Amino acid sequence: MKKNDRIEITITDIGVHGEGIGKANGFTFFVKDTVPGDHVLATVMKLKRNYGYARLQEILFPSKDRAEALCPSARACGGCSLQAMTYERQLLFKQEKIRSCLLRLGGFSDPPMEPILGMENPFRYRNKAQYPVGYDKNGRIAVGFYAAGTHSIVPVEDCVIGPEENREIIRRLVRWMEEEENPPYQEETGEGCIRHILIRKAFSTGEILVCLVVNRPIQGGEALMATLEELPEVVGITINHNSARTNVILGERTTAFYGKPAIEDVLAGIRFSISTESFYQINPVQTEKLYERVMEYAALTGKETVWDLFCGIGTISLFLAKKAKKVFGVELNRQAVEDAKRNAKRNGIDNAEFLAGKAEEIYPAMIRERADEAKAEVIVVDPPRKGCERPLLEAMLGMQPERIVYVSCDPATLARDLRILCDGGYELKRVQGVDCFSQTPHVETVVLLTRQNT
Ligand code: SAH
Repeated sequence: MKKNDRIEITITDIGVHGEGIGKANGFTFFVKDTVPGDHVLATVMKLKRNYGYARLQEILFPSKDRAEALCPSARACGGCSLQAMTYERQLLFKQEKIRSCLLRLGGFSDPPMEPILGMENPFRYRNKAQYPVGYDKNGRIAVGFYAAGTHSIVPVEDCVIGPEENREIIRRLVRWMEEEENPPYQEETGEGCIRHILIRKAFSTGEILVCLVVNRPIQGGEALMATLEELPEVVGITINHNSARTNVILGERTTAFYGKPAIEDVLAGIRFSISTESFYQINPVQTEKLYERVMEYAALTGKETVWDLFCGIGTISLFLAKKAKKVFGVELNRQAVEDAKRNAKRNGIDNAEFLAGKAEEIYPAMIRERADEAKAEVIVVDPPRKGCERPLLEAMLGMQPERIVYVSCDPATLARDLRILCDGGYELKRVQGVDCFSQTPHVETVVLLTRQNT
């Protein structure tokens, strides 16, 4: 077997990124855009000793779980790798992904899993889009998303997991770039101006915030304002300055350019202000369900001190604060901490305190220096994909709260951390998957751990 060979293959499994897996001639092949149950013709792209990658050429017999992708760019775009799969099958895949991480990486033999919470309408749910800007093959301005694993831009006019309004905003921005000579930034040379377009929408209020990430000052600011002003939902434009030769999207400085520098969203009765840099859950419908579970697992009576580590703009903290004696939130991003404080104030919540810094440094330091305040009945953690650092897990084990609620966006690091916590005296009580990222292979999980001797 060699590169470019044609193979006929039946897909029997799914990999962690949502790609189909099947066997042919003794090799295991990963075939993107296929679904278990498909029988397909594919071309061998890359071969290793006993596995390889193949590209889908033709579907000979479709799986019963196959769906027609809504987006014409679904295959090329690195975003929605599950669009060829029915939504029911996507949910099953995610449920099994969580279970398999807990079994294989966590060593839990029978994890107490609840049925995954899916979406009623698994499209148009994303409140944030980050479009890279560049050129297409014909030298025209291209705005879209990166193809999987590359930095080549797949132009996407209307992303079906984002709001419909984005299309018109992008159209106007491209025209403005052409007319006012603000060319796309080019990674290879470091030249050009516009690097990314960020659009955020607060679904409950309809407000939209547009941010241009620029490599150098823009020209034609008046015209920019004029064209977006015609869209009443755009309440603010910010400019983020990033002239670093890196892949990091945002630079250090964001300035308000027009209108409001932040938009307002309401989640389950609490008002949040969201600025360009702050982390905010991208799927508001599912986030409410996620937070409901967090509240249920935290089981607060009003007497507890709760620590909410990795608190972002204080979303979970403020829900907890309504039912707790006191909540401390810890967050690395200073802007988000400022937002959190402001959010607490404007919602009249005075029993929440926010600290800026690394959770793995702040919480252990608090235990040493302000032991009374560090003492928690409940600890909530919601770390980024890499999970919790060891010193934080150890500090939590040292504190021995009655309950730990772990919110995770990566089941693999979740399973690793749960093993450490369970070896330290906690019991895995409940596991709830929540589909916050329909059409993509990602999944959120909420877990309840209780102290074993309670
Ligand atoms: N709980 C929040 C945010 C979760 S996302 C919500 O539901 O909206 C994870 C957050 O952790 C991000 O805001 C990120 O800025 C922050 N973060 C990343 N590393 C951190 C660290 N070492 N210590 C504290 N916060 C960190």
